[in-house]
Amino acid sequence: MPEISRKSAVYHCDPTGRMERSLIDKLRDLFKKAGGREIFDRGDSVAVKFHCGEEENTSYLNPAFARALVSELKELDTRPFLIDTNTLYRGQRHETAAHLATAHRHGFGPDEIGAPVVISSDFKEVNSSGRAIRVAREFVEADAALLITHVTGHVIFGYAGAVKNVAMGLASPAEKQVMHSDLKPRVKEEKCIACGTCVRVCPVEAVSIREGGKAVIDTETCIGCGECVAVCPVQAIPIHWETEIAVMAEKTAAQCAAALADKRGKTLCFNFLLSVAPDCDCCSWSAPPFVPDLGVLASRDILAIEQASLDLVAGAPLIPGSPLVARYLKKNPPGATSEGVVMPNPGEKFPALFDIDVEVFQAAAEREGLGKREYRLLKVS
Ligand code: SF4
Ligand code: SF4
Repeated sequence: MPEISRKSAVYHCDPTGRMERSLIDKLRDLFKKAGGREIFDRGDSVAVKFHCGEEENTSYLNPAFARALVSELKELDTRPFLIDTNTLYRGQRHETAAHLATAHRHGFGPDEIGAPVVISSDFKEVNSSGRAIRVAREFVEADAALLITHVTGHVIFGYAGAVKNVAMGLASPAEKQVMHSDLKPRVKEEKCIACGTCVRVCPVEAVSIREGGKAVIDTETCIGCGECVAVCPVQAIPIHWETEIAVMAEKTAAQCAAALADKRGKTLCFNFLLSVAPDCDCCSWSAPPFVPDLGVLASRDILAIEQASLDLVAGAPLIPGSPLVARYLKKNPPGATSEGVVMPNPGEKFPALFDIDVEVFQAAAEREGLGKREYRLLKVS
């Protein structure tokens, strides 16, 4: 009898394309190899989680990938639709009309993709992890899910992958606040230059410049969205990850589990390791990537695909001149050079971006039973 592997299968194609073998071709193969034809049944409604990128972000995923995956789903006579929810912070994806307009401008309109595009503002309670958790109703009520995730760094999570995409991306505004609620950033006065940027971006007017010219955060009013942390030009607003991030990690894993509660065996994940930038696609800017393009992963196991993504990034060379290299060199001057920087611990790449231990999130997701961290990487050439 063949031995049943205890490791989850993760399929991987490299990022190169050539005549008669484009990256889109490879993506179609990944869909089949990872089990698309077994997961999705004729007539299934399939919620395709997407992210169109914030206005003025320039490194969001090319809509051609979503279009190709939607066309694979339609070939199976399923009923795919794209889905996302509005953001907690102010921006062009904070309200539905502006969000849809941004999606359209970025190539994610229904005509361009070949499927309806839903920005949900209707949420359904799912009993999970001992409480009722609110998730986008259209996603919960769909028969199956396909997750399109752009792997990047993230100012609060350290790493933005599939778990964060599902958890934060499909949560109601109230649940987004619950996940962030333990995050109460504080201003390091000695670093603050009183530029006022944090005051302008705060969605709830929790920040002010007090007499003496330093920013101060009213922690009673703060909803923990993290916007001020992301925009401060001199990193004067740090996160205390030892306490705050650990709680957030548990809540995020629980939110993801709620969203996928009735999608066991009916979910296919794609992680794109292309333009792996320090900041996520929610930012209204894009910094250059810090590792070369590493390709695309597909798996039925959301935790395995996360682990494979982290491992691939950990094992990749750093791009000289990238923001991560600059930050790393600042912290570790002796022995490091700007050409071919070698980190003592290669897994430090994501943590080095924002001083956040991404292992905390992986461990929380494992405790929540989202999947296995052990995987087999299977090449699709
Ligand atoms: S103070 Fe910062 S974290 Fe708090 S709500 Fe305002 S922008 Fe968000
Ligand atoms: S963005 Fe940073 S430097 Fe500017 S006022 Fe806020 S805390 Fe100070």
